[in-house]
Amino acid sequence: VYVVAMVAVLLWIDLRLAMAGLCTLVLVAVLIHSYSGQIQTLTRKRLKKEGEAASVFHETLGAIQEVQLFGGGDNLFDPLNAKSYRADMKALKARAALMRWVETLTAFSVAAVLWFGAKRAMAGGLTTGDLVVVITYLRAIYKPVRRIARLTMQASKARISAERVVDVLSAEPEIRDAPDAIAAPRFQGGIAFQDVSFAYTRKRLVLEGLHLEVQPGETIALVGTSGAGKSTLMSMLPRLYDPASGAIEVEGVDIRRYRLESLRSRIAVAPQEAVLFSTTIAENIALGAAQRDDRAIRRAAELAHAAEFIEQLPEGFDSPVGERGLSLSGGQRQRIAIARAILRDAPIVLLDEPFRGLDAESEEAVRLGLEALLQDRTAFVIAHRLTTLLGANRVAVLDEGRLVEVGTPAELLGAGGRFRQLAELQIDARTASFAAEVQA
Ligand code: ATP
Repeated sequence: VYVVAMVAVLLWIDLRLAMAGLCTLVLVAVLIHSYSGQIQTLTRKRLKKEGEAASVFHETLGAIQEVQLFGGGDNLFDPLNAKSYRADMKALKARAALMRWVETLTAFSVAAVLWFGAKRAMAGGLTTGDLVVVITYLRAIYKPVRRIARLTMQASKARISAERVVDVLSAEPEIRDAPDAIAAPRFQGGIAFQDVSFAYTRKRLVLEGLHLEVQPGETIALVGTSGAGKSTLMSMLPRLYDPASGAIEVEGVDIRRYRLESLRSRIAVAPQEAVLFSTTIAENIALGAAQRDDRAIRRAAELAHAAEFIEQLPEGFDSPVGERGLSLSGGQRQRIAIARAILRDAPIVLLDEPFRGLDAESEEAVRLGLEALLQDRTAFVIAHRLTTLLGANRVAVLDEGRLVEVGTPAELLGAGGRFRQLAELQIDARTASFAAEVQA
């Protein structure tokens, strides 16, 4: 309102002088417009690099031991940081150039109006008072214009940051509830893979035409060489991925008919590397539970053979586990993950090589925990080592995404096929290394 009123007064005092002074505004507007595009592009680049550097920073801190042991944190972080710095410097230079133009233009404009105004005043076409008003008003009008030019950078940054946030917030997950999805009932756990195929990329099928029927309460060991598709197969049950073709059914119903949240609440997962959060042991066990029930937590820990070591900790169940559980051993973390799965009390259990990296003693404790977990539940266990197979009702052997053998461990060993080959490889390798050690 202030600016509009001043422009009106200027035009009323002297139309030509006012027009000359106001022409500058048009030029400034064109300048701001052309520079702000450039500043926005540079700001976008800078924020992208800053985001990448932040994610490397996060990863580096998350794997601090590897970085300390192998070095290389700087190699990852410095180039991204340098790129973000360079983009920032370029944006600052662009802003400085814009400001230089705006300041010069407005200064010249005031000088020109003063020059012509003075001449007209001397010729008697304008009073000195009018000339003073014109100059004062013109300068007052230029002030906010300069401020707008100065704000271009902040405005660009705010705009691009908002764009990035909106991008994330408006991202649609690929796997969603069907419009008519229903709540998953408490099933017994009979599962059928019906001609399931899946590919991460267009180039290669990771699972191909897979048929597998699993009875309620059965434990199926998934066996195969590295990259055969075991983890992929398992991650399809809680619908982290959907089949490209075919269907996975639980008790005759396609799992895509169930609401995601309710389906996942029927599945307990103990991954290869137990993921713990930097809170207390009790809260880690109760992860995802609707409410904390200390007795149930203790019971789950007892069944998982974790209660004994937890009670020896200074604060028992309320002991902090440190960031990502670093204050606990691998076996202890594994047993907490098993206690978490037991507490979830889900009819379907997914385990990924539960004995990975454990010594014989911890393995025994984890095995006892697993027995409690697997009782009366349908389970899939990824087994790299033969010892993991103990207790599995059937073994499913995957080879390059195809199911090549299914049967009890004894049947498959007797059949002399792919499973037997894998088993012999392991036994041979172990015997050979043991024999070499004894000889040495
Ligand atoms: P391992 O025993 O080594 O864990 P696996 O049998 O569990 O192996 P998967 O992890 O299921 O094998 O991987 C099967 C194939 O899919 C591999 O060739 C792998 O490179 C590929 N793959 C796995 N995850 C992805 C992903 N997120 N994007 C693209 N390809 C992937």
